[in-house]
Amino acid sequence: MTEVRRPAVVPVQLDLREFRTVPDGPDGYLELWKLIEPTVHTLQPQVKDTWRLDLPDGPLTVRFVDPASAPARLDRTTPFAVRGVVEPPVIRYKCASCAAAKITRYGPFVCSQCREAKLPDPLCDDHAVIVDLNFGRVTCRRHRPRCECGEAGSFWCGGPRCKGARAWCDRHRKALPGNADRAYCPQCHDRRFPACAATGCASTGSMSCEHTDAAGRSCARRQCLRHGFRWQVYGPRRTGLAVCQEHRAGLAELGRAELIRQVVVATALRRGHGSGFRLPTLPAFRHMLINVRRDPVDIPAVAELVDAVRRDLAGTPHAAVFDESYGRAMRAAIETAAQDREAGLKHFARLRQYLRGAGRTKLAEQMTYAFFTSRSNLLFVRVPDDFEKQFEAYARKMSGFLSMTVKRENA
Ligand SMILES: [Zn+2]
Ligand SMILES: [Zn+2]
Ligand SMILES: [Zn+2]
Ligand SMILES: [Zn+2]
Ligand SMILES: [Zn+2]
Ligand SMILES: [Zn+2]
Repeated sequence: MTEVRRPAVVPVQLDLREFRTVPDGPDGYLELWKLIEPTVHTLQPQVKDTWRLDLPDGPLTVRFVDPASAPARLDRTTPFAVRGVVEPPVIRYKCASCAAAKITRYGPFVCSQCREAKLPDPLCDDHAVIVDLNFGRVTCRRHRPRCECGEAGSFWCGGPRCKGARAWCDRHRKALPGNADRAYCPQCHDRRFPACAATGCASTGSMSCEHTDAAGRSCARRQCLRHGFRWQVYGPRRTGLAVCQEHRAGLAELGRAELIRQVVVATALRRGHGSGFRLPTLPAFRHMLINVRRDPVDIPAVAELVDAVRRDLAGTPHAAVFDESYGRAMRAAIETAAQDREAGLKHFARLRQYLRGAGRTKLAEQMTYAFFTSRSNLLFVRVPDDFEKQFEAYARKMSGFLSMTVKRENA
């Protein structure tokens, strides 16, 4: 004898792990069941055992524990038994904003301002406002930072003025050059990356003009590397003075003393900023006068010009640039220059004889002595433009004869 045993009830299991309003007692569960029962009647356990119901408070899953024994069709008379409920894990840090709406959600964040006010409520990721991951600062919606213009802030500015303490909106966001992901506010951006002053130039003015006025104040006009000019007064290996277009154009018009004063004061200002720049040597000053003014001056005269600038600056903070070591270097340079001149004139006399002997009488007569430096073994002579070609054609032979480099001084 076999007896068909039909289950008196259909056992189900409820999964509430994603459901936001988990009931907190038997009455609550009864309410919930009443809410979902009409839908459960329409499910077909033999088609599949797990059904997901999308409810206003989130998804809820019904699982038929014994689908094979369930009736093919469920209806209003089918008795059910809830055999188990899977609830979300116990949440220690519940989002306070969600809790106010009777929703239980994990709140891993705390608003920095609420914390300062000793009211640190946990926030879920929907209720936390994370303006900028760079600064890892989270606020609640109430404390969401505002931009100066009133818009909601979208990033914290880490620029020289804001230092990460102020937030700005997208409209006031200026990306850093070459790094679209990082941005400053307009003021910090302009301070850190000032625009080139040349008309129509969109580049960053990374050079600040070091030309000074009579009071020793820098021009400070910003120009990009293309528009600004590096005046290599410290030799080829050290960063020369930055000069804007306008002041570069006026450089050749400056008098001897003013040209030297420009370099002295700019060097003094650099030293004031802690960079260990030294004044150019006397021969370097001499070259500057030739290059900029096409004005050859001998070393004792250059020394006199530099000393005049020194007397002028006495009593000002810039006077410190004429330190003891510069005084020593200047005296040594004058002495060397005197010896070099004596030696140079002898070399020059021999060179003339050599040219005459080689039948270059005209060239020998047109050439005059300019400068000799024993340190570089270099003899400069002056040659009129008409004789330039002749000179250049013979320069190697002359250098070979004297065992030194013979060059035309381009003044
Ligand atoms: Zn929340
Ligand atoms: Zn807050
Ligand atoms: Zn800023
Ligand atoms: Zn704004
Ligand atoms: Zn430019
Ligand atoms: Zn300038």
